[in-house]
Amino acid sequence: MHDPEFFDQGDLVAVLTTQPLDRLLDYKAPEGGCFRGAFVEVPLGPRKVMGVVWGPGQGDFDRSKIRSVIRVLDVAPMRDEMRSFLGRAADYTLTPMSAMLRLATRAPGLGDPQSMRKIFRLGEGEPERQTDARRRVLEVLREYGGLSFTLKELADMAGVTSPVVKGLVKQGVVREEDSPRDLPYPHLNPDLPSKDLSADQADAAEILRTGLQSGKYGTTLLKGVTGSGKTEVYLEAVAECLRQGKQALVLLPEIALTAEFLTRVEARFGARPAEWHSGVTITERRRLWRMVGQGDAQLVVGARSSLFLPFRHLGLIIVDEEHDTSYKQEDGVTYNARDMAVLRSAICGARVVLASATPSLESWANADAGKYDKIELTSRFGASVMPDMRAIDMRAEKMPASTWISPTLRQAVEDRRAKGEQSLLFINRRGYAPVTLCRACGQQIGCDHCDARMVEHRFLKRLMCHQCGETKPMPDACPSCEVEGKLAPVGPGIERLAEEALEAFPDANIATLSSDMFGSARALKAKIEEIAEGDADIIIGTQLVAKGHNFPNLTLVGVIDADLGLQGSDLRAAERTFQLMRQVAGRAGRAEKPGQALLQTFQPEHPVIRAILSGDENGFWSAEAAERQAAGVPPYGRMAGIVLSGPDVAAVFDLGNAMARNDGPLRQIGAQVYGPAPAPIARIRGRHRVRLLVKADKGAPIQEAIARWIAPLRLTGDLRLNVDIDPQSFL
Ligand code: ADP
Ligand code: ZN
Repeated sequence: MHDPEFFDQGDLVAVLTTQPLDRLLDYKAPEGGCFRGAFVEVPLGPRKVMGVVWGPGQGDFDRSKIRSVIRVLDVAPMRDEMRSFLGRAADYTLTPMSAMLRLATRAPGLGDPQSMRKIFRLGEGEPERQTDARRRVLEVLREYGGLSFTLKELADMAGVTSPVVKGLVKQGVVREEDSPRDLPYPHLNPDLPSKDLSADQADAAEILRTGLQSGKYGTTLLKGVTGSGKTEVYLEAVAECLRQGKQALVLLPEIALTAEFLTRVEARFGARPAEWHSGVTITERRRLWRMVGQGDAQLVVGARSSLFLPFRHLGLIIVDEEHDTSYKQEDGVTYNARDMAVLRSAICGARVVLASATPSLESWANADAGKYDKIELTSRFGASVMPDMRAIDMRAEKMPASTWISPTLRQAVEDRRAKGEQSLLFINRRGYAPVTLCRACGQQIGCDHCDARMVEHRFLKRLMCHQCGETKPMPDACPSCEVEGKLAPVGPGIERLAEEALEAFPDANIATLSSDMFGSARALKAKIEEIAEGDADIIIGTQLVAKGHNFPNLTLVGVIDADLGLQGSDLRAAERTFQLMRQVAGRAGRAEKPGQALLQTFQPEHPVIRAILSGDENGFWSAEAAERQAAGVPPYGRMAGIVLSGPDVAAVFDLGNAMARNDGPLRQIGAQVYGPAPAPIARIRGRHRVRLLVKADKGAPIQEAIARWIAPLRLTGDLRLNVDIDPQSFL
């Protein structure tokens, strides 16, 4: 039995708050007492802040000056396993506990009392007098069909003031109703029939079910080519988890993916799951957070931060597309959701399923070492087979200047069109052109605040910095030499490729899919669904389309620049290219029609390109693993990146040099420090960036050593230090 410690009124309790203080604060337990783990409101100076009762107070202050907890919030107390998860995640990522608590309470107004509230939904008829503001209100309500809003949410979303909404209520066009807060979620029924699984799929599902029945922690890598039915299989694990009365969490990398997934959940379990991502309204977040804590949300589908929800009895975490880089959070708390899913499950005895067609080398190595179980689905479901993959040797193609679709690729697209099938032209670059060059002086247009080139976005009619997001209008004259009319785009981005495709295939229906061309995730989702239904002959897409969407009529994938990812100095460049190319190629031939993938490359002999074409995955991974092992880098060694930044470049380097000189704690564990050196992006938003790299043996206690190393530092002025354990990108 969970039997939390109880504190009587007036007892000293230590409270962890969301404020960046880095220590617990003592308070007196309020009237009625409180449990350990209780969410409370406490006074801090003139303010009231939220916190969690962490344990008995330290009592090292003048007792008479200690203030009382103001109130205990009406939500389930934090469970012991959550407290230890936050503690261990904080130690692992070198993050202050206050920041971890903020991550775990990302639902404003958690403490608001349970009560009735007014909600607004679509009523009947049209307003007596139509205005722009009124129309916007109705548009929001229509777009969201069944959803209801609070007054503020509705007004905010429509961009109107509340009297506009109230006016519509008077006319009956909008209805105002009383509704209890936080309604429970509809029940998911695990005993509805599943699809008929193939023999392979059924075996895989059975292994996952057996794992769940053990009631113990374990991680399984579920590897299977795109379209092999991984989702069908892991939904059976979810079913078993629900049958046991436990909660399941499915992590997905992209919001754009969830629409299709939610429909599949509904088909399998008869209702939709709870959703958690940046597109969910504040009211919904609060509801979900509370329901999860009470055990009333059976299944949550979410982005990486849903790992920090207060599950009451978590039985299963699925990490779909586990290799996806978006699982690595790089702002604020730097953590990798895949690794944190494993940590959280190990603490609470849940199962983890890592699903991917192209697992990360980390997971591959863990399975290889026997730490994870591994299940492989080797064939695609039904008649579909992996596409035939070939290189187009660009050295042999006759290409007019400033074109990127080779004659061979063009012919292949024509062939598909003649058969009424879809083609995808893939380029992993947003915007029109990556470089804008002045033909008079040779200068490239750069960002004023960063060490990056500005990228022309013709669709938005602006230049944009992909580092800091700064935009400016496209100038007529060169900013350097002021000569007019000499600025020229160099190289292709998705918009320029789309322009070329329009000329090459004038009577084709061409759809361009790039995240910045859609005002919202919703609009993008809608577009993807349209395309999946066959509403386009040619799809031009960035990375966005590589992520698990089903396009049944798509049979040709043309990769415009297969060499693009191989150019960086990134440790994972080969791995990323391999994964991305295979994922993209996997878009072709998902239904009954065989697919083909054509990779335009100037280096068809490159080992990575050859591995992609031959489909020799184990060969690729073994070679990649051997190389990393020899170099002692992850996953066979440990690394941490330290980025120092500040407006004054000399001060940043002084700090970096001082750190490199005083590396005693690191030397004690046999770790090496490299740098300081300018970070690959040496300036972002006017801040100079310098980095140090720490490298250690696999078993070395790197966090603890880094903690002792940076503890004595006093960051003066505007200097900042950010630690990234297991860095993914080396920017
Ligand atoms: P993956 O997750 O491995 O990419 P999916 O689970 O999405 O594969 O399956 C690919 C497609 O095949 C989906 O449309 C899915 O509904 C279908 N499919 C897979 N297995 C079955 C099955 N046993 N019965 C019917 N359809 C299936
Ligand atoms: Zn910039």
